[in-house]
Amino acid sequence: RRKLLMIPGPIEFEPDVLQAMATPTPSHVAPNFIEVFGNSLELMKKVWMAPTGQPFIVAGSGTLAMDMAAANLIEKGDDALVISTGYFGDRFKDILERYGANTTLLKATIGDVVSLETIEQELQKKQYKVVAFTHVDTSTGVLVAPEPISKLAKKYNALSILDGVCSVAGEIIKQEDWGVDVVLTGSQKAIGVPPGLALLVASQKAMNAWKDRKSPVGNYYADWNNWLPIMTAYKKRQPSYFGTPPVNLIVALEASLKIICTEGITIRVKKHKKLAKAFQAAINALNLKKIPKTDAIAAHTLSAVYFPEGIDGAAMRAKMIESDVIIAGGLLPEIKSTYFRVGHMGSVSANDLLAVLGALERALVELGHSFEPGKSLQAFQSTYLQPN
Ligand code: PMP
Repeated sequence: RRKLLMIPGPIEFEPDVLQAMATPTPSHVAPNFIEVFGNSLELMKKVWMAPTGQPFIVAGSGTLAMDMAAANLIEKGDDALVISTGYFGDRFKDILERYGANTTLLKATIGDVVSLETIEQELQKKQYKVVAFTHVDTSTGVLVAPEPISKLAKKYNALSILDGVCSVAGEIIKQEDWGVDVVLTGSQKAIGVPPGLALLVASQKAMNAWKDRKSPVGNYYADWNNWLPIMTAYKKRQPSYFGTPPVNLIVALEASLKIICTEGITIRVKKHKKLAKAFQAAINALNLKKIPKTDAIAAHTLSAVYFPEGIDGAAMRAKMIESDVIIAGGLLPEIKSTYFRVGHMGSVSANDLLAVLGALERALVELGHSFEPGKSLQAFQSTYLQPN
């Protein structure tokens, strides 16, 4: 039987998107593909809510999108402030340092966010070139409010970089309204396309900062000098080449962005919230502890939950696989073996989450955990059925 993939990316993809992957590969300079690429760039600006932003579509994973932002905006000796709510915040520090940044890391305690006061105090200490932070850290399931942080960055004349790998198309992002200078993601999460695309939108301010560089970009593949002419050409529906684009993935990207924009980003995010709230209620009904300290800072794209006391986590996940449901283990090194993660983004439905809860309950019963079976399903249903 086909198993339900409920990890926080790659996710279950829409049949139309998978169909697009399977179409005969066009040339990257064929007129129909140029159109697809151009459309995808335009649709990205809608999803990012960045009408004057510069989109980039490049073959690579989300980490390449982080690398690209750092490579193009950092020069040796620049000060960079990194706000970390987990594993991926810590990764951003390493990436920025690779390009010679002097980084300061503000690290939240596990399951919490860094306060705005702490961030502002740090910004007062020196002239930071960039402030990098994660919207949803997939290792902790913690949701950060980007708007006040990007406003603070602006107030202190720093560029803001938002890692939106686990949030773009799943949480509201108003890149231009909020003044975020770079918002980046990978294809395999809420954007709903198999892994392999690094997606990024840069503000005009970020592009100007890049143009003002004194030194060359320290990464050949990620250098916007190579990619900006390509994006500009496709925007004008002209053929162009720097590195062969992953054409099938881009055909699939257009298909998925069309689905997202046809539904409407606001409605889509609302759906994510509704499912997340119902899932959180189900987890609460089982008396399981979530990693985010409060539901107000819990992501709507995934949930990170501690295994119950005395339960062998690996055995629980193995039993769920026997029930055809795949969830993810922990990722944050400090607590890796103590928790699990369930993705609920993209084309996910209430049915999918009820299947997860059913499999979770059966696994827990089989492992001797004592609770009333059906409780989480009931909590999910009653929360989900509440009027908006
Ligand atoms: N940032 C966040 C928040 C992520 O969740 C991930 C992937 N889980 C990444 C960055 C890195 O993306 P990728 O695995 O596609 O390189």
